[in-house]
Amino acid sequence: MSEHLHDCRVLRRCWPEYADAHSTHVVNVNGVDIGGPLPVVIAGPCAVESMEQTLRIAIACKDAGAQLLRGGAFKPRTHPASFQGLGLEGLKILAEARARTGMGVVTEVMDPRLVEQVSEYADMLQIGSRSMQNFPLLKEVGRSGRPVLLKRGWSATLDEWVYAAEYIAQEGNLDIVLCERGIRTGVNESYARNVLDLNVIEPLRSVCPLPVIVDPSHATGTSSRVATMSNAALACGAHGLLIEVVDSEETRATLRCDGEQGVTPDQLARIVAPLGGVA
Ligand code: PEP
Ligand code: MN
Repeated sequence: MSEHLHDCRVLRRCWPEYADAHSTHVVNVNGVDIGGPLPVVIAGPCAVESMEQTLRIAIACKDAGAQLLRGGAFKPRTHPASFQGLGLEGLKILAEARARTGMGVVTEVMDPRLVEQVSEYADMLQIGSRSMQNFPLLKEVGRSGRPVLLKRGWSATLDEWVYAAEYIAQEGNLDIVLCERGIRTGVNESYARNVLDLNVIEPLRSVCPLPVIVDPSHATGTSSRVATMSNAALACGAHGLLIEVVDSEETRATLRCDGEQGVTPDQLARIVAPLGGVA
């Protein structure tokens, strides 16, 4: 085990209530416990694209047994001409989906100046892979009073990831959930969007009291592999899943963001059914 992994144990010692090896700090999001005995499923569209699309998918996710709703109003896109998200309008659509389904909302914030605004609509703030080391943003979400979903930077080491969590924790916010979403290796691009690093779960759970979930959607980039990778992640000890959903095979191609990797509501229901955590 590397010197850095050893250093990460400091995180447990810094938080005396989690000093026991293997104990997990349970994070409650709108009444749903992440890090408890049952795995949690957070599901929804990649991006909020319209009121109709978001409400249809939100209701379908609820019916499939997912406990929390995901959806991006602010989208981090590689190309500046790509759809950037609906912004404030997207947040309002998420609020409507929350009101109709009762599901807590998980949504990304990219800009430290918008943390306050996004916090008015989100039950949990998502920090995307590209923002994992945006330290001013980490400090700001640490002061937001909202639980945080911290995605792993696609080339972050375990200690870089845990130290990013410490930036949030230092501001007094311990309600942090880590999310493995696949890493870039240089050999995977022809067949997969990323490489799902399930290896990281066991050492992470031993050095860090935070729950860890897995995003099989961005890890694979392909809807047909999401169920298998979900099962693998849970077998490795993940506390839950973050899954992108499309409303049907027919509408997949019309989406402005990540249409290829979303599972249909039927596929989602088959992933969630055996988990025993249906809301
Ligand atoms: C997302 O969850 O939609 C997203 C943009 O993910 P990531 O930051 O992992 O690429
Ligand atoms: Mn996406």
